[in-house]
Amino acid sequence: MILTTHALAGAVIGKNLNNPYLIIVLSIIVHYAMDHLRHGEYVEVFSKNTSVKNSGWKVVLDLLTGFLAISLILFFLHIHNSLDKPSTFNIILGVFFSIIPDFITSIYWKFRWKFLEKYYNFHSWVHRYPRYAPEREWTLRNARNDILISLTAIILLFLL
Ligand SMILES: [Zn+2]
Repeated sequence: MILTTHALAGAVIGKNLNNPYLIIVLSIIVHYAMDHLRHGEYVEVFSKNTSVKNSGWKVVLDLLTGFLAISLILFFLHIHNSLDKPSTFNIILGVFFSIIPDFITSIYWKFRWKFLEKYYNFHSWVHRYPRYAPEREWTLRNARNDILISLTAIILLFLL
């Protein structure tokens, strides 16, 4: 799934739990659970003929979108006085550890370090559909779960 969706889910986890260790573990587990759902991939390592180099700007755009969304939500929660310091820290912790699994994968794409191979294989294995399946193409149909989860997360961040 896209980093923005992962970040929003991590924010929900961080906002609603008090134990930082639980937030870290749950954020990582939820990342893999979300990756198991049908979703499109924009990183072009998933299409046979293009190099991963062409995808850098998309990752940056995705990261910036996620960062902007989280910042705006934190800002609105703050001006409505519904957020204290520990919760803010926990949200940032949840966001950070929700995107860590993809960060490690991108390190592997870039450097192909052998010791990350097992991790990379696990991350690939978690995905329900194989790499070149139509279910992983970057289409609106395949973005449905990203959109649904992101919207639900935004609503939960304001309601809970
Ligand atoms: Zn992932």
